[in-house]
Amino acid sequence: MSFSAFSRGAAMLCAAFLCLQATAQIDQTYARDAKQAVDQDYTQRINKYTTMPELNSPLTNYLPASSTVPTPQKVLGDVSGAPDILPYAEDVYRYFRMLESASPRVKVFTIGHTEEGREMIAVAVADESLLNNYKENDARLAKLADPRTINMNDATAADLVKQSVPVYYITGTIHSPETGAPTALMELAYRLAVDDSPYIQYIRTHMITLITPVVEVDGRDRMVDIYKWHKAHPNENYPRLVYWGHYVAHDNNRDAMTLTLDLSRNVLNTYIGWHAQVLHDLHESVPFLYDNTVGDEPYNAWLDPILTNEWQMIGWNNVQEMTKFGMPGVFTHGDFDTWSPGYLMFLAAMHNGISRLYETFGNGGADTVERILTPGEYSRTWFRQNPPYPKVKWSQRDNNNYEETALLVSLNYFAQNGQTFLNNFYLKSKRSILKPNDSGPAAYVLPANEDSKDRQRMLLDVLRAQHVEISRTTEAATVSVPAKPKREKKDDTDDKDTKSKSEQPKTEQRTFPAGSYVIRMDQPYSRIADALLDRQYWAPDDPQKTPYDDTGWSLSALFSVEAVRVTEPAILKARMEPVPAGEGTGSSGGPVSTYLVPNHADPSLITLRYLLKNATVSVADASFTANNQQFPPGSLIIKDVSHDDMMSAFQKTLLTPVGVVSAPSVPMHTVGAPRIAMMHTWLSTQGEGWWRQVLDKQGVPFDYISTQTVSSEDDLRSKYDVILFAPVGFSRTAQIIQGLPMWGNALPWKKTDLTPNLGRIDSTDDMRPGLGYSGVDHLRHFVEQGGLLITSGDTAEFAIETGLAPGVSVTSHGDLKVVGTLLGTTVIDPKSPVLYGYSKPLTVYSEDGLSFNVSNTVGGTRGPRFGAGDERPTGRGGPDDPDTPQGRPFIAPDEQPKPKTWEPMPLNEEQLRNNPNVIPAELRPQVLLRFADLDSLLVSGLLDKGNLLAQHAAVVAAHLGKGSVLLFANNPLYRGETIGSYPLVFNAILNFDHLANPPATSKTTTDQ
Ligand SMILES: [Zn+2]
Repeated sequence: MSFSAFSRGAAMLCAAFLCLQATAQIDQTYARDAKQAVDQDYTQRINKYTTMPELNSPLTNYLPASSTVPTPQKVLGDVSGAPDILPYAEDVYRYFRMLESASPRVKVFTIGHTEEGREMIAVAVADESLLNNYKENDARLAKLADPRTINMNDATAADLVKQSVPVYYITGTIHSPETGAPTALMELAYRLAVDDSPYIQYIRTHMITLITPVVEVDGRDRMVDIYKWHKAHPNENYPRLVYWGHYVAHDNNRDAMTLTLDLSRNVLNTYIGWHAQVLHDLHESVPFLYDNTVGDEPYNAWLDPILTNEWQMIGWNNVQEMTKFGMPGVFTHGDFDTWSPGYLMFLAAMHNGISRLYETFGNGGADTVERILTPGEYSRTWFRQNPPYPKVKWSQRDNNNYEETALLVSLNYFAQNGQTFLNNFYLKSKRSILKPNDSGPAAYVLPANEDSKDRQRMLLDVLRAQHVEISRTTEAATVSVPAKPKREKKDDTDDKDTKSKSEQPKTEQRTFPAGSYVIRMDQPYSRIADALLDRQYWAPDDPQKTPYDDTGWSLSALFSVEAVRVTEPAILKARMEPVPAGEGTGSSGGPVSTYLVPNHADPSLITLRYLLKNATVSVADASFTANNQQFPPGSLIIKDVSHDDMMSAFQKTLLTPVGVVSAPSVPMHTVGAPRIAMMHTWLSTQGEGWWRQVLDKQGVPFDYISTQTVSSEDDLRSKYDVILFAPVGFSRTAQIIQGLPMWGNALPWKKTDLTPNLGRIDSTDDMRPGLGYSGVDHLRHFVEQGGLLITSGDTAEFAIETGLAPGVSVTSHGDLKVVGTLLGTTVIDPKSPVLYGYSKPLTVYSEDGLSFNVSNTVGGTRGPRFGAGDERPTGRGGPDDPDTPQGRPFIAPDEQPKPKTWEPMPLNEEQLRNNPNVIPAELRPQVLLRFADLDSLLVSGLLDKGNLLAQHAAVVAAHLGKGSVLLFANNPLYRGETIGSYPLVFNAILNFDHLANPPATSKTTTDQ
């Protein structure tokens, strides 16, 4: 008989004596302390706000009373999960600090601040005997976390495990519209501190529970504002939460690789600092409780199998226990694949801990409403034998019941098995250190002679933020590495291997110069470094047809930084020293008049331009040599700047300047500090949020304007040189123009007494109006008068569809499959300043495989205007022979042009005659970068039917009047990952008035 038979609905089916026995067992396990009084008022309210008895459990359907410790009611005015109440982070913190004052079992720690300066906290709850000695416990856990400190001695580890208790870290409301966690965690902390039931006592005496009740604090406070507005305007539509955090919305849970957000770094540092074993993140979107700990395939390929086994143990236990309570709709497995390491909870998976995530059912506020589920949500599947109800009246209290019950079940299971999990923690840490000798690799090496120290430093900074140790060689080291496949390139479309793969040598010797960076894999956090630097392959016929997120992320490719995967353990014997954090490379001396900065597609070149506002900065339009050093096109020549200003600017960027007494003789053009506007919609701000973050981090000033501003501003050109229009995400041109429907009420987003946290980033009286047709006109004037509009993804499609990019069209997708994939590219127009500094093939990020075709006529199809078929008709001879009319001499036609995939079809005289659609030569679109040939197209992730994308245009400069529109099929500024692509945008900004076709400084040749 299965345990599920004891669920409330099915209890009548089992034999009476078995039922009684089982019920007795359940009651004993979860029995309350008979001596402890119950808080009657609080308990009554819990039951009143719970919409059906089966949506609660014996663990949370009462609250124990305390004469000294305040309940959440003290701060909330009602119980946790009560209708209509959503506390600000500040109130949540106030409660935890009241708990701390009242109970020796609670301690509150500040763990950092957000981008907007709001505090983040972690709350430790455990028996006072544990809390008073948490530092000693932590010292032991630190040794288990780094077994090198105990010489990898298992016996010592076993002793440490025996003396220690685990730390279980819970994080709430990273996703701001998922609102239930803070009140659930307030009440959970109270229960852990106060309840004397054996079940809860066991938890607090056998482990430390660590709680960050609000992860996205900026977003929480905005969400509470929105909810208050909603309660004040009960019969109106309320504004969508268009900004969550300062930069991004839902993607704050995709930042765990590059750690660009304060919340990611604060949570990681807390997790690592406490040497926690679990990071358990709370979300709300799936009815009624989806424990995605177990997840679906494919599993991330860099995880220790001990962890993936732990997932099964913990996940299925959670489902089993809650099924026994009779709570419907609790399941695990589901459709979440664990491939990408971008999720917050995955910080634990990649640092020898256990990652966990709950999706409970939230109403996006504290209203009690009837929820109607979809068949996909309520259907019974093998992993969801007890599915949620098709329709349910659901309250925030129901949600809190599920969150708290599930967490208590998890904490108890973890406490009961604490020794096992601590031992596993030690084993996983040890196995991470043993990696060079088992699975490998031994190390990744970032050679000292990397072109761009800037991008290399940015990659090292990410690894350092991930707590990865970095070493640097003090002498040259030679090891064998996989041989590069050799092939002879004949031309762009037709290359064949000169030797079959089996004939080619598998390895070759490679010498890394002294000063090369080594990421050793014999360190506790080797796994995260391996996962970030390695390549990903997602098979086109993988059973998982809906990847949950990006399929590729290889950071060495995206940063365009060489990181050599070395499997030979000899590399670890090379002489090396640890690199201290924050060490720079900038230096220069001597009185000089001019500074030269080579352009190796370094993101920080633009930082320099804005730091040295008053200097004269020129961009070299050809390569040159100075001080025996080669400077590629695009290198900066800086004059009229004091030595001190220069040195302080270089220290900020860590670029290496070369001082010379006189400027080199080379074609160059001066560049100002272009005036930039970042234009956002009121539909969604996440795509531009990532772009905005990049500009802020690189110190590039900009005005932040909305499509509504552009709609009413008819002289954009007098204010701006460059307008950035980042991808909106899932938007259509009509939506960008029209905005939200104008029926119903206005949707304000602004600071008022009722909503003090709105309007901080931008504000409007009504979010509904879009760009409008006037806005399209204003953008057109802006470009015609010499401005540069930069677009990407759906905004590039917007530019095409509104006629701002004559001659450019979108390639039809067909069956092409690309899901957040890294793709190779080839430079087509190295003379374009956009591509200055790019000497190596660039890897770009493609969300869905967008690409462009270009044409010499407007209307944008690539084929010949008069569209005749190329195939020969039926007749004499073979397929390549001409047909021959009888009775007259044969007249051979002109040979048909055969342009490359990315090229426009040339027009003949016939097609040019009296054709108003022909674009004047100087206004024709230029393909700057195209996608690579099929055999080098996939770098990382999923690619199927790549032939539909290979060789098509990836980056195009379109021209309109005196200005240009730059169209990116890839997203060049994405999640802090696409460092290698940043300079495409920065080059374009710096050279915005130098993108004419052909460039103004070059000799012009007539285009036929
Ligand atoms: Zn979520």
